[in-house]
Amino acid sequence: MSKVVVVTGASRGIGRNIAYNLAVNGYTVVANYNASEDKAISLKEELKSQNIDIDIFKANVSKINEIKKLIDFTIEKYGRIDVLINNAGISEEKLFTDITEEEFDRMIKTNMYSVFFASQEAARYMIKAHSGCIINISSIYGLTGGSCEVAYSMAKAGVDGLTKALAKELGPSNIRVNSVAPGAIDTDMNKNVTEEEWQAIKDETPLMKIGKPIDITRCVKWLVEDEFTTGQVISPNGGLVIT
Ligand code: NAP
Repeated sequence: MSKVVVVTGASRGIGRNIAYNLAVNGYTVVANYNASEDKAISLKEELKSQNIDIDIFKANVSKINEIKKLIDFTIEKYGRIDVLINNAGISEEKLFTDITEEEFDRMIKTNMYSVFFASQEAARYMIKAHSGCIINISSIYGLTGGSCEVAYSMAKAGVDGLTKALAKELGPSNIRVNSVAPGAIDTDMNKNVTEEEWQAIKDETPLMKIGKPIDITRCVKWLVEDEFTTGQVISPNGGLVIT
């Protein structure tokens, strides 16, 4: 059987592109969604028209019981999980002093807590199999910090911290853990960015362009296939951030 890959937040944007391309490349894909059922169904149908079958599974990954259901579904159906891609995320631009406890909680639970507990659930099976790959989609803001995105930046920096620690702990079990930290990518997450703002980002970016979901997918696919990279934060960002 081909490798079994779970992609969280696969109904739209980067996650959808990752799920689509891995499925086209022969991987067995379980595509998670939460609110956008119509978009998840359209992903499944688009692939079906090419004779490719994927599973779509509704789960709010900010809740542990729903994460467990997603991983249990995968194990019950396929008996294994080879790759977990923790992609689901939300962002919100807000002044630091205006962020409420409820908003902070939602940001941390969706972007960080989800990565911790989905990785924990998947790792239980990967350790037994002595094989696995976990890829966490973080952000350049986890590296640089983003003004008016303090909770988001904090969550993404936390994800990169998890990546490094978990790579050390799970390396002896032949499980690789890496972060992919995108720069500015044209998705719904940036639907409020104006033309002028996009232009300003392009002007600041050495490659003079905005990223597309496929730019992240290529990096993810490479990491899925690699065998010697772990604990790294790789940032496809057009050179906007060079560390
Ligand atoms: P997007 O277009 O807004 O899509 C977000 C995806 O996450 C959707 O499929 C959404 O599913 C899912 N999601 C959100 N909350 C969820 C939850 N509680 N449970 C399950 N799924 C949930 O965003 P994107 O740009 O593709 O972002 C994908 C990842 O890349 C995120 O982690 C983001 O932080 C990161 N990133 C993006 C950029 C960028 O410029 N776009 C830059 C750096 C990092 P539903 O609609 O079905 O709920």
